[in-house]
Amino acid sequence: MSNDCIFCQIVAGQAPSAPIAETESTFAFMDIQPGSDGHLLVVPKRHSTDLRDIPADDLAEVALESQRIAKHAYSAWDADGVNLLNCCGADAWQTVFHFHMHVIPRYRDKDKDRLRLPFEPGIRGNQDLIDSLAASMRESLGEG
Ligand code: AMP
Ligand code: ZN
Repeated sequence: MSNDCIFCQIVAGQAPSAPIAETESTFAFMDIQPGSDGHLLVVPKRHSTDLRDIPADDLAEVALESQRIAKHAYSAWDADGVNLLNCCGADAWQTVFHFHMHVIPRYRDKDKDRLRLPFEPGIRGNQDLIDSLAASMRESLGEG
């Protein structure tokens, strides 16, 4: 546990939360600044900073628990859809540096849903740039 980490404190019961579910390695609780009704977070109990350092087993358990709860958003809350979101790094909007998956129920009823796409959809990218980024990623991955 990291003493100055708010999510470690929540997992340890030392800070308040609205809990939803707990497994051996994960904890789920409601987000206090929800982007939509029911917006919640799934975290590993073991502290990891972000996507780059979370151990594979914790990442797998968080993903599976996010899926399990996401399915219930349809039945429990009448959600019309769900977004899973992870922010890795301050420049990707991460503000709490304990890995977490956002589970964000989505609704056609916009009174329940304040999320908007952060980019303009439907704009075709530059194909040369797409191809060259694909090539540098393949090289970095050793994919030939
Ligand atoms: P991110 O920007 O991906 O790091 O998301 C951090 C999320 O944690 C935000 O959506 C916050 O509203 C949420 N958050 C911060 N502190 C708390 C807290 N004490 N209880 C519940 N959610 C929190
Ligand atoms: Zn932590």
